Amino acid sequence: MKSFITYSEDCHFPIQNLPYGIFSSTDNPNPRGGVAIGELVLDLTLLESEGLLPSNYFSQSNLNLFMSAGKEIWSSVRRQIQELLDENNSSLKDNSELRERAFYCQSEVSMHLPAQIGDYTDFYSSRQHATNVGTMFRDPNNALLPNWLHLPVGYHGRASSVVISGTPVYRPNGQTLPMGEENPVFGPCRLMDFELEMGCFIGPGNELGEPISTENAGDHLFGLVLVNDWSARDIQKWEYVPLGPFGAKNLATSISPWVIPFEALEAFRIDDPIQENPTPLPYLQCEKNWTFDMNLEVKIKSPTMTEPETISESNYKYMYWNLAQQLAHHTITGCNMNPGDMFASGTISGEEAGSYGSMLELAWKGTKPIQLSNGEVRKFIQDGDNIIMTGYAQGDGYRVGFGNVSGKILPAKKQ
Ligand code: MN
Repeated sequence: MKSFITYSEDCHFPIQNLPYGIFSSTDNPNPRGGVAIGELVLDLTLLESEGLLPSNYFSQSNLNLFMSAGKEIWSSVRRQIQELLDENNSSLKDNSELRERAFYCQSEVSMHLPAQIGDYTDFYSSRQHATNVGTMFRDPNNALLPNWLHLPVGYHGRASSVVISGTPVYRPNGQTLPMGEENPVFGPCRLMDFELEMGCFIGPGNELGEPISTENAGDHLFGLVLVNDWSARDIQKWEYVPLGPFGAKNLATSISPWVIPFEALEAFRIDDPIQENPTPLPYLQCEKNWTFDMNLEVKIKSPTMTEPETISESNYKYMYWNLAQQLAHHTITGCNMNPGDMFASGTISGEEAGSYGSMLELAWKGTKPIQLSNGEVRKFIQDGDNIIMTGYAQGDGYRVGFGNVSGKILPAKKQ
């Protein structure tokens, strides 16, 4: 498969990918649907109005309508876009007037949230991450709580503060309990952290009271983005008992702008981890694999650095509970999903120290500060630090990637 649009072998957006996003341009400030191809964005509304794409999903400021359309529509729209971009198809390739209007440089457009996110749920599904956190804060011999291997632990997050890549994030103010003190103090978070996660957008939902089985999960899962689930560790530590994270997590959650459809990821589906000690309860058992081999990376760029520096290399395959199991568990109570809802995976940590998905783990609660090449040291994130996450699956001579999700931490607002 080859496109008439040219790009390098390490480009994240070849014709095999075709992720969907919402963009606006200087000549047309209306947010609308597009796909990324090479270093360009193809304006899907133009293909629709020219009759080249017989659909009506993309003249909207979000992808919710398209997400709700379901697998058969996703597949046929994708096939039609792929055909229009194919080097052997002349309808777009040889129409220079239309090409002129239909393509924009990615560097020249503004990206918006791909969906109106009604609900956002954050899971905790990487065994190594849960083990690391349990080891640091509780007991190395009983790092995983008794429920962890029996169910995908999660909490209901805050959808209103999910922001698009590039949005600056203010260091939050809040309550923390200083070491050895009895009373909390108020002020800016001192242990600001990132969490490397993947996000999944939900397509068609389910009726209240009607669970989705692991077997049918594929009918409801639209595609993936990168997620940075910003975390205020000191605020989290004081507030999270007994009901879980609150202000430590609701300050902001950053996502990458391009949603990769699962069809583009089929080639990278690999075996799920073995779950036999214990075997999950029947409603969580899953025949089809929902694990994907996707390289993930976290970089930091402090105000004095000229180039970002890699501080972690992980992989989406380091997940214990997969998306189908998360969806089945989330809905087994009868909880209803809606198109555009988002699941985040939980911090994805690999087995080695250099593959941990948070600063908390990389610098081991501040006991092993990270040395950066310019001489700076980090235990947690400082004001002005830009955190950039990227990720891709490596195919034979091509990559299916996300681009990136970035966010800079700004000083806390004065109270
Ligand atoms: Mn998280």
